[in-house]
Amino acid sequence: MFNALVVRKGEESGKTSASVEQIGLDDLPAGNVTVAVEYSTVNYKDGLCIGPGGGLVRKYPHVPGIDFAGTVEASDDPRYKPGDKVVLTGWRVGEVHWGGYAQKARVSADWLVPLPEGLDTRAAMAVGTAGFTAMLAVMALEDHGLSPDKGEVLVTGAAGGVGSVATAILAHLGYQVAGVTGRPEQEGYLKGLGATRIVAREEIAEPVKRPLEAETWAGCVDAVGGPMLARVLGQVKYGGSVAAVGLAGGANLPATVIPFLLRGVNLLGIDSVMQPYENRVRAWGRIAKDLPMDRLEAMIHPATLSDLPQLGADILKGQVRGRVVVDVN
Ligand code: NDP
Repeated sequence: MFNALVVRKGEESGKTSASVEQIGLDDLPAGNVTVAVEYSTVNYKDGLCIGPGGGLVRKYPHVPGIDFAGTVEASDDPRYKPGDKVVLTGWRVGEVHWGGYAQKARVSADWLVPLPEGLDTRAAMAVGTAGFTAMLAVMALEDHGLSPDKGEVLVTGAAGGVGSVATAILAHLGYQVAGVTGRPEQEGYLKGLGATRIVAREEIAEPVKRPLEAETWAGCVDAVGGPMLARVLGQVKYGGSVAAVGLAGGANLPATVIPFLLRGVNLLGIDSVMQPYENRVRAWGRIAKDLPMDRLEAMIHPATLSDLPQLGADILKGQVRGRVVVDVN
């Protein structure tokens, strides 16, 4: 038997509740690799899945946790053998398939990535889906011509998980990074990650009044979406790109097409869930190389399985700073 955070739904009330329970190997879903989970983390989606589900969870009881890192315990797949260190993000694990908030997980070998040299399982979950997605966003911006000589790069939702890792990676690569935050008290934290300028959320949260504003940003990693993304599009320099990662500020995009037509601005969609294997390996390799471990350490808040119900509620309110690392053992 081992520990897992199990979410149950009351038959009559329809309400969900999450608590740590003992479950067995036979309870785990089908899969060809069993992993002894060491660490998981807390993402916005986890907040939804620990709580009422946000339409992501199909069946109860459910074990959430959209990402985890650990050691292979048993494998029917030739690509993995017991003792291999692995990381998993995406593929709807923790949503439709049981996830990483347990001491063991059973998954498909296709969903795993071998941990790259230079990253241990704790660091991998300090990065987690949020950091992995931040790296995908930086890679997409680079693939569209971004380089440090082009000018300042904006990161929205900077003190959140995606924003924190994007800020640290970009600063390490030599970019001038402006971080948008609604929490002015996080200025010291963000400068510690390498941000060179802090932009107050109110400055950039107003709806679009003019479709084009002063050309300010060479690129942007956007975790917020909504009216803020619409504003940013009008502030991007000629030929620059915005990597759209998140919707912390809303799913609508009240923008005009003028920045695309008159400035050749690119809006790049970033999806981490169905990302092909080769690009996953590339991104994890870049993380091991381009994310300074001392800055990653500064983002970490340690937690255990029993902290998760509270942390899930906190992240939905935008109250989690940086990266929570859940030691499931
Ligand atoms: P966090 O909650 O850690 O960070 C989001 C940050 O956005 C907050 O910390 C806050 O930053 C800012 N924010 C919150 N609410 C608002 C608001 N109403 N208006 C403006 N800014 C706001 O989440 P993550 O970093 O883990 O994820 C960020 C987004 O990216 C989420 O929407 C998530 O669903 C999405 N995501 C998408 C993925 C993909 O594959 N495309 C993968 C992973 C995440 P501050 O306090 O600094 O202002």
